[in-house]
Amino acid sequence: MNIDNELLHELRELKDSHLLRVLKRVDSAQSSRIIIEGKEYINLCSNDYLGLADHPSLKEAVIESVKKYGTGAGASRLVSGNMELHETLEGATAQFKGTEDALLFNSGYMANTGIIQALASEGDAIFSDELNHASIIDGCRLSKAKVFIYRHKDAGHLRSLIMQTTEKGNRAYRRRIAVTESVFSMDGDIVPLNDIVKVIEEFEGILIVDDAHATGVLGRSGRGSFEHFGVNNSSHIQMGTYGKALGSFGAYAAGTSLLKNYLINKARTFIYTTALPPSVMAASIAALRILQNDEELLEVLWVTTRLFRDGLSALGYNTMQSETPIIPIYVGDTEKALRFSQRLFDEGIYAAPIRPPTVPEGGCRIRTTVTAAHSLEDIERSIEVFKNVGRELGLI
Ligand SMILES: *Cc1c(COP(=O)(O)O)cnc(C)c1O
Repeated sequence: MNIDNELLHELRELKDSHLLRVLKRVDSAQSSRIIIEGKEYINLCSNDYLGLADHPSLKEAVIESVKKYGTGAGASRLVSGNMELHETLEGATAQFKGTEDALLFNSGYMANTGIIQALASEGDAIFSDELNHASIIDGCRLSKAKVFIYRHKDAGHLRSLIMQTTEKGNRAYRRRIAVTESVFSMDGDIVPLNDIVKVIEEFEGILIVDDAHATGVLGRSGRGSFEHFGVNNSSHIQMGTYGKALGSFGAYAAGTSLLKNYLINKARTFIYTTALPPSVMAASIAALRILQNDEELLEVLWVTTRLFRDGLSALGYNTMQSETPIIPIYVGDTEKALRFSQRLFDEGIYAAPIRPPTVPEGGCRIRTTVTAAHSLEDIERSIEVFKNVGRELGLI
């Protein structure tokens, strides 16, 4: 077989098992409604929770930044790419998170791989929730540390695994690092953060919390999982992104100034990459400002969330353990999930099917998300379509 045939063969295998992934092109701004191939759809799969991705203030801030600073940062931050806006955004982020300092990464994927690879190496132990995001998994792999997987959100299991690594006769690990998402991206449930914090503090370990879906969503003022749970130990590491609720792009690690200096020196995804461009930082700064001045946005998001989730449950759908704007609808079978998504699409609803390896085998679901930008009419129309399509396919 030549290489083309091999690749074709693998793609065909994916197609036959209903696992082939293809791109759909959106021809409008990202919002509650989007245009695909000339037709308007209610968008139920964006992580733009606060509807900021098409916000006039963000767009204005971007235009101004381009006029003043141009389009590209030109180099890594450690060479000539460190600009005023990087430092302004880091300051604004630290203030927002209530931490000593913050460091920018070019994306959440790069933040997780970079932070974990920097802090953990051979001889260390990482404890990772079984449903953690691929970027966390890849960070663990890059680190060469020994990885222990604990049961989803199970602080007791985490504790017993850590205990095992401290028992006599077991080889001594230098560092113990626990890593978890706060809002799980495919399930929409929330980690019992206080329990996890207690365990990691008992063993004087390091805790990394991924707030990708909690930034701008959880907590009274959207500051994330630490605000939600009232955790204020700033020695823990809070990673989060600007690309979801904040409508921009990029990511941060918030924590101590010492951590920041350490990551600047050790995180390869920080060191060996061109710095974020000014326009992206300008959008993120504007988004943080909006979030801190507009208390209604978060309220609208949560009212919409409850409305949609209750509507789906009332129809008889299994929305799993969802407690957030991420509302999965459990289907199970891959082909069924694909057909469900396709029929919703025919009826003007864009909601993506989630298949392995993103979720476990047999755990296929339609992952829906609602945002503060969805109108009451969007939600009512969506529930109507879910009712009709669900009955047609025998799902409810
Ligand atoms: C989206 C996501 C990331 C990656 O963030 P990007 O900025 O999109 O690269 C990391 N962790 C979790 C849990 C996510 O959902």
